[in-house]
Amino acid sequence: MNHVQVWDNCLQTIKKSINAQTYKTWFDPIKPIKLENNSLTIQVPNTFYYEWLEENFVGLLKKTIRQELGDEGKLEYQVLLDDHKQVSHQIKGGSRNRSFYSTDHIRNPFVIPGIKKIRVDPQLNPNYVFDNFIEGDCNKLARSAGKAIAKDPGGTAFNPLVIYGDVGLGKTHLVHAIGNEIKNSFPKKNTLYISTERFTNQIIESIKKNSVNELVNFYQNIDVLIVDDIQFLSNKKKTQEIFFNIFNHLHQIGKQIILTSDRAPKSLEGIQDRLISRFKWGLSADLQAPDFETRMAILSSKMDAEGVEKIENSVIEFISYNVKDNVRELEGVLVSLIAQSSLNDKHIDIDLARHVVQSFVSGVSKEITIDNIKQLVSEYLKIPVDKIQGKTRKREVVMARQLSMYLAKHHTKSSLKAIGKNFGNRDHSTVIYSCKTVEDLIDTDPLIKDTLQELEKQVRMSLSGIHA
Ligand code: ADP
Ligand code: MG
Repeated sequence: MNHVQVWDNCLQTIKKSINAQTYKTWFDPIKPIKLENNSLTIQVPNTFYYEWLEENFVGLLKKTIRQELGDEGKLEYQVLLDDHKQVSHQIKGGSRNRSFYSTDHIRNPFVIPGIKKIRVDPQLNPNYVFDNFIEGDCNKLARSAGKAIAKDPGGTAFNPLVIYGDVGLGKTHLVHAIGNEIKNSFPKKNTLYISTERFTNQIIESIKKNSVNELVNFYQNIDVLIVDDIQFLSNKKKTQEIFFNIFNHLHQIGKQIILTSDRAPKSLEGIQDRLISRFKWGLSADLQAPDFETRMAILSSKMDAEGVEKIENSVIEFISYNVKDNVRELEGVLVSLIAQSSLNDKHIDIDLARHVVQSFVSGVSKEITIDNIKQLVSEYLKIPVDKIQGKTRKREVVMARQLSMYLAKHHTKSSLKAIGKNFGNRDHSTVIYSCKTVEDLIDTDPLIKDTLQELEKQVRMSLSGIHA
């Protein structure tokens, strides 16, 4: 019998003992090399393979070798390294040699050396967890899909899970939270977080070093693969190709894939259709900008985390009111506010908050304008601006007009003449009359009083006067 026949016989036995997928993954790539002195040499693609075989299939291998070559039969591994240097390791029918576990020449990234079974450092940020990821309507679907995956990675229909949304809305936080929860519940699963940028660099590096196969092998052994910001795959053909292979392999054997993107899969540009169609296989869930209440909750939670002294609720309200599009900015304002207050020994109040918010939110005017006020009143009372400044004598329109003039007089630096001009070229005496009417009504009409109070609050809160 020659080496090919012996190995063939071994494979027949092995095939019967393990499932088809495992067989395909671990035994298909093995090549029999030679049979000498009752010792069969097989070639495995890399060190990781032989480690894995040794760890998981040593009993089975011993049994089959003994069966084919007798008690004195030996199995030798040849590891094909990336520089094509061949290294031999020996396994005997009898006792196992401990030095087999040496991980010295494992070239895979993230491998923690010195540990028997290959383990991957998951690269997860322990600070990004579900507990501090505030739930809101803006993230309900993505969050609950993430929770479901964390309970049963690879076992839900959400594979891949694609979380998409604008910058600063919590994509990275959420995927780390999923990863951390999986790591807690399934410590043995190899979970790995990687940014697309880093992934791309690894591929470029491995192409240079001629070790692409090894890198792919490494990724094919991850149980939960999290890739952040896949929009950066755009126009990177080789990276896409390699990622496609890894994706297919993992998906086929039921491993979990989690991706983030700054836009929906269908809107990704410069990415192969076959990849995009795979991104759509599972669930795409978006993150929206948080609403006012969620922004308040996020700020409160960050304050607790920072351990800061209580900031007045009105200040928190003010910030939440004005920083709307981006949670990272919301945090930035808070951190900056705390810093400014302690550096300058200033109390955190609305004025300081206004100052800080102005430096964060672009395009806000420092002072409220008459136009801002008209807009505000128009939105609040649901009366179009052109009616407010027009000629209509209808009661509710007149009321809106008078309230607007009152607010303009008290909250802008405009002269009475300028205000009159701004309200359909009216005379300054009309403005005086309007203000007087409102002042009288404050005392006699509770509804008007409430309305004015709410409008004044909005004016105070507002930097630009334009509200979501
Ligand atoms: P993205 O990856 O979408 O650009 P990040 O995950 O980096 O956004 O989030 C930006 C910041 O906002 C992070 O510090 C994160 O902790 C915070 N953040 C976003 N969403 C939430 C949320 N729902 N609850 C708490 N913090 C959040
Ligand atoms: Mg991110």
